[in-house]
Amino acid sequence: MYGKMKEYLGNTLTEIKEAGLYKEERLIESAQQAAIIVKGKEVLNFCANNYLGLSNHPRLIAAAQKMMDRRGYGVSSVRFICGTQDIHKELEAAISDYFQTEDTILYAACFDANGGVFEPLFTEEDAIISDSLNHASIIDGVRLCKAQRYRYANANMDELEKCLQLSQAQRFRIIVTDGVFSMDGNVAPLDQICNLAEKYDALVMVDESHSAGVVGATGHGVSELYQTYGRVDIYTGTLGKAFGGAMGGFTTGRKEIIDLLRQRSRPYLFSNSVAPTVVGAGIEVFHMLKESHELHDKLVENVTYFRNKMLIAGFDIKPTQSAICAVMLYDAKLSQTYAARMLEEGIYVTGFYYPVVPKELARIRVQLSAGHDKAHLDKCIDAFIKVGRELGVVK
Ligand SMILES: *Cc1c(COP(=O)(O)O)cnc(C)c1O
Repeated sequence: MYGKMKEYLGNTLTEIKEAGLYKEERLIESAQQAAIIVKGKEVLNFCANNYLGLSNHPRLIAAAQKMMDRRGYGVSSVRFICGTQDIHKELEAAISDYFQTEDTILYAACFDANGGVFEPLFTEEDAIISDSLNHASIIDGVRLCKAQRYRYANANMDELEKCLQLSQAQRFRIIVTDGVFSMDGNVAPLDQICNLAEKYDALVMVDESHSAGVVGATGHGVSELYQTYGRVDIYTGTLGKAFGGAMGGFTTGRKEIIDLLRQRSRPYLFSNSVAPTVVGAGIEVFHMLKESHELHDKLVENVTYFRNKMLIAGFDIKPTQSAICAVMLYDAKLSQTYAARMLEEGIYVTGFYYPVVPKELARIRVQLSAGHDKAHLDKCIDAFIKVGRELGVVK
């Protein structure tokens, strides 16, 4: 039976390879942190979402181990049957406290949070208005729901306003946006989005995956940055980036919304409870972030230092308000050659080109972390300059 399909899949894989789009995975032979081991050699990692440097933090490892002793390894149930431990509620409360929201619901991943947020809340009578650069999981979540769909160009408030006008006949409208967009590192203009939402009677949802822990005076996300507390109805986010980097996602916001998600959201109802190790470390993350802002301060300092040095060296860097710095190269092949040379110099960065970013906008994306120290940053900048001179990108 498989024969015909095997041939078909083989051809598809060949096409992917011939187009140069086949994704190879590099094996990392160490824990995730600033300095990692790749093929037996130490390299500095500038492409993880480890924004606060927590992925291999001793306090989180200890908290995970301790929680495994207290509440075991697995939960072997979905939440509503026999999978809710006291610690799940404790983590949900810590997340609500962090975002200043009324309630929180945990998921196995933010992919699930986004997959399960729309269908229980919106029907064909309603409208979902989505930024064109929103994450794949938002796009998939919207697909699972019968609401009318509207799309506006990235952060384009004129287009958003047109969508709001066009959707006025619908019962409910919701504007959905990523907090930070992962390719350019720009932040959604949430103050303007909230103003338009109020003018046109719409709800607002923000996916804080790349922004929570990163943007805002103390890293509390886009509502802290734009002071839009109380004006955003739904936030989704991940524990897999700034907040420790293991896994787990959440939706946090208005009480009735979260309550209904617990009743009807399919990735919550039909998928296993988050494991005690992840919950224990998650609770510890929010303790740490309450005690002190030092990790966030260090991250901001690192981003500023890196950007300034790179600009002085003559690189073309997209303006960023986050921990993502896009070093623009504008040429797909150059982005790949550059990244490969950087790895030889001991710096792990990734080159992105079409279709991940628009044609002619190829780049190297650098992600900074509180786990980097000055010596790491200097080594990265020096390698960028050395390779840049070699390849004629800077003088
Ligand atoms: C990473 C990311 C997700 C997925 O989060 P997981 O917890 O890894 O599933 C969802 N939305 C955005 C915007 C992201 O950047």
